[in-house]
Amino acid sequence: MSTTRPVALVTGASSGIGKASALALSEAGFTVVGSTRDTSRATPLDGVTMVDLDVASDASVAAAVQQGVERFGRIDVLVNNAGIGLTGAAEENSIAQAQGVFDINVFGVMRMTNAVLPHMRAQRSGRIINLSSIFGLIPAPYLAAYAASKHAVEGYSESLDHEVREYGVRVLLIEPGGTNTGFEANSPRPDSPLPVYESQRRIADQVLATAVRDGDAPATVASVIVAAATDSKPK
Ligand code: NDP
Repeated sequence: MSTTRPVALVTGASSGIGKASALALSEAGFTVVGSTRDTSRATPLDGVTMVDLDVASDASVAAAVQQGVERFGRIDVLVNNAGIGLTGAAEENSIAQAQGVFDINVFGVMRMTNAVLPHMRAQRSGRIINLSSIFGLIPAPYLAAYAASKHAVEGYSESLDHEVREYGVRVLLIEPGGTNTGFEANSPRPDSPLPVYESQRRIADQVLATAVRDGDAPATVASVIVAAATDSKPK
C-alpha cells in the first residue's frame, strides 16, 4: 500500500515527546509510522501505524525501516526521538551504563540514519529531525554521559547536514529544555552509587525531577517538530 501523503517515521512513539509528535504529524497530514520496543504493550494512537523497533539493534532497525518502506513506499521525515538519560556522579556510572546510553542516543540515531538515508538519497528529498537537548549545548553535572551523548548528536547532525544537502536532504536538531514526560522515571540510576556523592545526587535528581515536572508539555515540543518537518512556524 503506498500513500499520497508524506510519510514520517517517529522512533520512541509510545510516550512523551515521540507520542505527541506522532499524533501532531498525523494531524498535520502525514502518514505516520511510530515505533516502540513492544507493540503488544503500546496504546494504539489514532492515525499512527505502530511497529516494533529497538534502535540499539541493527536487525531491528533494518526490519522496521523495510516494513515502513514496503508498506508506504517512501520515508519523507525521520524523527530520531528515542532516548534515555543516566543520572549520577561521573564515576558512579559504569562504562557499560554509559555505553548503553550511547547505544540508544547516539548509535541509535546513526543506525536509523544509515537505514533511511539510501531511500532519501534515491528520492532526492527528506528530512531527518534529531532530538538533542539543551544538554547537547551546555554542561549537565550529574548527567555527564547523557550530556556527552547529546553533544555527540549535535556534531553528527551538523556534519551530516552538510553531507546530504546536495541530495535534497536536510538534518535538523531540536534542543528541548525540561519537558513533562516519563523521561526522568525512565532514566537509569548508577549501578554502584558511592555514599560520598549521596547528597549531590539527591540534589541533582531533584533538579531533574523539577525540570521535567515543571517543563514544557510534550505537545509544545511536538509543534516545533511539525514545524521542522513542514518548514512552517511552530503553532
Ligand atoms: P520518554 O521516556 O517519555 O520516551 C522515550 C521513548 O524512547 C519511549 O517511547 C521509548 O519507547 C523509547 N525508547 C527507549 N529506548 C529505546 C530503544 N532502545 N529503542 C527504541 N525506542 C526506545 O522520554 P521523552 O519523551 O522525554 O524523550 C524523548 C527524547 O527527547 C529523548 O531523546 C530525550 O533525550 C529528549 N529530551 C527530553 C527532555 C525532557 O525533559 N523530557 C529534554 C530534552 C531532550 P519504548 O519504551 O516503548 O520502546
